[in-house]
Amino acid sequence: YDDRDGTIWMNGTLVPWREANVHLLTHAMHYASSVFEGERAYNGKIFESRKHSERLIFSAGEIDLDLQYTVDEIEAAKVETLAASGLSDAYVRPIAWRGAGEDMGVSSSRNPTHLAIAVWGWGNYYGDAKTKGAKLDISKWKRPSPETIPCFAKAAGLYMICTMSKHAAEAKGCSDALMMDHRGYVAEATGANVFFVKDGKVHTPKPDCFLNGITRQTVLRLLEQRGIEVIERHIEPQEMADFEQCWLTGTAAEVTPVGQIGEFTFEVGALARGISEEYEKLVRI
Ligand code: PMP
Repeated sequence: YDDRDGTIWMNGTLVPWREANVHLLTHAMHYASSVFEGERAYNGKIFESRKHSERLIFSAGEIDLDLQYTVDEIEAAKVETLAASGLSDAYVRPIAWRGAGEDMGVSSSRNPTHLAIAVWGWGNYYGDAKTKGAKLDISKWKRPSPETIPCFAKAAGLYMICTMSKHAAEAKGCSDALMMDHRGYVAEATGANVFFVKDGKVHTPKPDCFLNGITRQTVLRLLEQRGIEVIERHIEPQEMADFEQCWLTGTAAEVTPVGQIGEFTFEVGALARGISEEYEKLVRI
């Protein structure tokens, strides 16, 4: 991803893609002091753009990062970067981090905070799983408790276990891993929230120790408009044996039906397909 044409917005200016570099002694690289966003533009417009900017500022606050940009300034920067990319359908990645500076210890509050925004084309996150249904492994890593880490922030530190989980799943021929939470309840995939269907009702984990995704919230609204009952609660892994349909939601994943999680199988049913199609239409309105 580093060797390509284009520009990346860094601290207020667009710089050539290949020159958008940081120093080796960047605090974030050593101590995970960074937060980021994942957004998608459709037909030249970023879906739920303000919500993502607001979440970036929230995440920065959660990890004690003094991000010196307002929502409006971040919005303007994203518009500028997207326009410069020449893309109308694109993935948008703002990232804020603690840089190199006066200190190189764990504490380095005097080091500057940076913000950058990169935009690139990113097709279907799960490839042909969108029509066939994704196959997921179950991760051995658990989502940490809110007492362990600021679990509602989209912070880099939380993704270490996601990458390990996803690599392990891919080694078994799966597209992703489902993670349980610290209590053993079903939590989420490594970059997406999860929904299940049983007897016409939707069941989804209560987001009390992981990201309440923006796509998740959009899908909850779509279900409400359809008059479908949604139960947000703690879900035991064994309950997956009785669930009929399953799908994942996320900005990158959009709405992707799931065919299998570990030993449990699901049909790529009418509701999973229907919500997926409805989401695709909504983001382009
Ligand atoms: N959980 C995790 C761990 C994620 O990385 C993402 C993607 N940001 C989500 C859930 C879904 O969030 P959203 O719908 O806001 O993209």
